[in-house]
Amino acid sequence: MDILDETRPHERHAFAYDNAKTHTARAPNALSARHMVVKPPTSKSKKKNFMCSIETENGVEYVRMRDGRFADGSSQSLYFPEGHQQAGIFKGMRNLIHERIAKGANLPNPDQLKAECKGFKCPPGRTDCCCRRILFTQPDFANQKSMLEEHCEARGYEVIFFPKFHCEVNSIEQCWGFSKRIYRMFPSSSKEEDLARNMNAALDAVPIKSMRK
Ligand SMILES: [Zn+2]
Repeated sequence: MDILDETRPHERHAFAYDNAKTHTARAPNALSARHMVVKPPTSKSKKKNFMCSIETENGVEYVRMRDGRFADGSSQSLYFPEGHQQAGIFKGMRNLIHERIAKGANLPNPDQLKAECKGFKCPPGRTDCCCRRILFTQPDFANQKSMLEEHCEARGYEVIFFPKFHCEVNSIEQCWGFSKRIYRMFPSSSKEEDLARNMNAALDAVPIKSMRK
């Protein structure tokens, strides 16, 4: 991105990545209904309150999960605000769903729902069977982006992922293939400077047409 900022600032750029776990990982405080509790925790201790653990140089630290978004785009804190009797405590899934209903979301009354379906096995296709499933399928939770996407988009660059297990569609593989073929046509040598020169020449030989194909 630094190079593109400097050399090609007026073009639209998209970075393409293999669909690997390291690329699609979400930020430690990303929105996730996975471990949420249904009611506000009774203890204020950071481990017991619903917090996200982040590995830092000084060991593990606990931070709040980031805000959600109501349908109107305004943000929804997951924790009770200052001045509230339970200030700083996680609101719990039921309260979060109630707040969304008050803002106009068409959702079932969470007081009549379980935290999650037995064994986390929701009936296929259902989005309103349990509190966890409701939040999981809400647009802000469902569209939570990866750390990589957030990082690039913050700087104005787009990110696309290749389909899972299809890293061979990555155009870089075509470039490697083309340049390896060229490289093999050079006379063999054991001199480092020859090898470096051959390698650079082989990489430079890849036509832009092949890259685009
Ligand atoms: Zn369910």
